[in-house]
Order: sequence, then C-alpha cells, then structure tokens
Amino acid sequence: MPLPMKMKCIKCGREYPVEIYYRRCPSCSGILHIYYDYDEMRKRRDELINVHEDSMWRYKGLLPVQDLSKIISLKEGWTPLIKAKRLANELKLNNIYLKDETRNPSGSFLDRGISLEVSIAAEYGFKSLTCGSTGNLAASVAAYGARGGFKTIIYVPRKVELGKLYQIAIYGADIYIVNSYEEALKRSEMMFLDSFVITTSDPWYLEGIKTIAYEILEQFKFNPPDYVITSAGTGSLISMTYKGFEEMHLLDFIDEFNTSFIAVQSDKADPIAKAFRSGKDHVEPITGSLDTVALDIAISNPTHGDVVLDIVHKTKGYVLSVSDEEILESLSLLAKLEGILAEPSAAAVLAGLKRLADEGKILPSETVVLVITGAGLKHPKAIRDTVSKIITLRRILSIVEGEKELSRLGTTKIKILQAIAEGHTYGYAIWKVLKNKYGVKVGLPTLYQHLKELEKMDLITVFSEESDKGRKSIHYTLTHKGQRIVEDFG
Ligand SMILES: [Zn+2]
Repeated sequence: MPLPMKMKCIKCGREYPVEIYYRRCPSCSGILHIYYDYDEMRKRRDELINVHEDSMWRYKGLLPVQDLSKIISLKEGWTPLIKAKRLANELKLNNIYLKDETRNPSGSFLDRGISLEVSIAAEYGFKSLTCGSTGNLAASVAAYGARGGFKTIIYVPRKVELGKLYQIAIYGADIYIVNSYEEALKRSEMMFLDSFVITTSDPWYLEGIKTIAYEILEQFKFNPPDYVITSAGTGSLISMTYKGFEEMHLLDFIDEFNTSFIAVQSDKADPIAKAFRSGKDHVEPITGSLDTVALDIAISNPTHGDVVLDIVHKTKGYVLSVSDEEILESLSLLAKLEGILAEPSAAAVLAGLKRLADEGKILPSETVVLVITGAGLKHPKAIRDTVSKIITLRRILSIVEGEKELSRLGTTKIKILQAIAEGHTYGYAIWKVLKNKYGVKVGLPTLYQHLKELEKMDLITVFSEESDKGRKSIHYTLTHKGQRIVEDFG
C-alpha cells in the first residue's frame, strides 16, 4: 500500500505531491523534504520496523518507495553503535558512543541516501545516473549504479583525491574531469533530460539519511542520548538526523526528547558556526578558497544552514568550528584508541567533543553519540600527514618512501646525488667523479639533463656564484629530500 505523503519546501512552506518529479521547490527553488500522514502511520506502528532486516531497509515502512521490487541495496545502514571506552577515558567522560558509518558499502553515510535515491530512479524507469561531486558522493553513486545496472556518468573536479578517483573508476562509471566543483555540478545538471541527476539536496537522498537517527534510537532501546554530534558541510546530515528523531516522536516510539544537537565545521569553511557565534538565525555564504583537510564539509553556501541554526537553538546545542590540526589529531586518536580509521571530515566531531568536554559543557555522566561519517582509507594523504607528525613513524616513512623514490631514480641519478653529497658541486666536477670513481660514463649534455630532472624532483637545488673576477658559475646542492635519500641508501 503506497504511503500517504507529500513534499514540503523548507523555505517557503509550499506543498507538492510526491508523484511529480520535483527536486527543488518550483516556486522558490528551496529544498524539499518529504512528510507523511503520521496519524495514519501511527495506527500501524507495529509494521513500521522490520527487525529481521539488517540494513537501513528495516525502515522501508518509513521511506518513500512505492515499488519494493525496485529497491537497490548493498546492505547499507544498520551500522554498529560502539561504546568507546578508551576514548571516554581519555576525555574523562563515561558514555561516548560511535555511530560507525565507515562500515557502509562505499565507505560513507551517503550510501543511505544514494541507495534510496537510486531505487527511486529505478522506479521512475531511468537507465542512467549522473552526478557532479568532489569524490564521496560520486563513489557512492558509481557503486549503486553498478549494482542496479545503470550507465553512470560522473563529473569530478581536477583536484579530486586519487583514492576516490580510483574507487569511482573501478565501479565502471564514465568519468569526466572538469576544472572545478561548480563546473562538475553545472555539467551534471545539463544531463537532466537523459539521465537521473543526483545531488545531496534531492528530497529522496535526504530522506535516506534520516535512517541514521532511527538506528541510533533503536540501538539505545528508544532512550534518546543527551547529545548527537555530527559534522556539517551542507548541514543536511544534522537536519535529517533531527527529522528522524522528530518522526520517532510523532510515531510514539519515543517521548519528547531532550537531545541536544551539535554541528562541527572546519574553521576554514564555517559559515554556520559564524552565524551561530554572532547570534544570527540566517547563514551568510562565505567566499574565498576553502582550503582544509576536511574537504567533504567545505561548503561556502550550505543548503541547510538556517535549518541547522534553528535545530541547534531549539535543542540547546552548539555549532563549533575546529582547526585542521585538531581534526588530524582526532583522526589519530580515533584510530589509536578505538581502532576506527575515519576520514578527516568525520574525525572533526571528536575535535568538537574534546573542546566541549574541556570547557565543561558536557558532563561525565551524559551520553554522547558521535556520527563517524566516512572511512579514512580514501584519504591516504591526510593519513600520511598525520603519521608523519609522529616522530617514531617518520623513519619508517622515509625508508619506504625513499625506497620507492630510489627505484624510480635509476643508478646514474643516485650516483650524481652521491657525488654532490661528497662535495662536488660543479657540473664538470660531478661528471669527472662519475667517470673516474663510479665508472658511469655519460656525455656532459646527458649529465645536465639528469641534473635538470633531479631539480624538478626537488632533490637538488641550483644556485649561481660570482667569483672575485665577476665570473658566474653554477653549483648544485642537495635538498633535504635529496639528503635523506643519500643518507638512507648511500
Ligand atoms: Zn519554496
């Protein structure tokens, strides 16, 4: 039996039937959320949760799918809620729980929204999916596209992280590299006549995300926690988590709840936190480059900014912004103390909790849920940066990375580095040492070509010196990196 439901614009409040394929409010282009006839649903409350289904689809009675045979699932959701004892000890709190969304099929909480939205695309009869994304969303769309047998078209900006690009590619999507995230979005929107275009502001995507809230409540046996902390880019995650709590209340699964909602942003991209700090109820977009390690939550004009402020005010919560340094420190702490490798934007929630615990705003007896939105394996660079800060691991990195560099270098270049390390800094002197000491016979032009390449690899630097008689000569020295290679393998 189809659910009684409607779409409602969160900006102007206009309502629309769900049967029409609207992705934004046609009158003000505001975000659409899906609402149900809760009185009607309450009557069949016992049928709403299927406890035998170990994915988010245990709540299909609370989701807007009409044709259940069209559901495209990889068993997303129903992720564990883990009590973090060692972390709690470290923070001098007693009850920290981690909602571990890294366990989702493509490694992030987005899979919930995408599983639902791709199922809707199948219901509408689409054969192709398109999206423009910085990485995580595209990876999820590509995975579900593969699962559902869609042709999947992905636009990604040039600066996409390689880990994510490989992931998108292996799922078999058609990838187009464009100059910026904005261009990726624009190009994907242009496909709307031929393909089902997916964004994180679509009503169906959003509706899938709210299942995180249902699960947290069910896993706590319907005793709501004192705090839920999520990271915030667009602000849709915290908004939909709150919607899930509200619905569980409307359907009598929980009484009035006193849970405070806390959003954490990167201090390099924190328009919602800025508005919160200055006591405003409207978020102004920010400009400039959003250069942070938590790229997934670096959003200049958040779609759910005003909604987040409203939720945080209503529930006596906070919006915080944390530094890249705090984020990477938290990433390392989560891994070391709890064995969970989170992505930077996910680790931000722990940085926020640490701040609140230090300030005494969260008491030891209170129960806190941290939503760990995505897996760190897709971010080798962030992990490397974190590891390289740990002195005992630096040597290991230098051996392995040096080894790799060495195997790319070849003998002639290594001998050149050694000759320079021995104090031969002129081209001609290096050439002589190569020939006489190392038995490497190359022509002078070849030697200069090697030197040029070594400079490009940041292993040597070139400087010129002027003698008393005004004659200029060119010298070569090792860079820090070059020295390391010679030391380790010389
Ligand atoms: Zn509207």
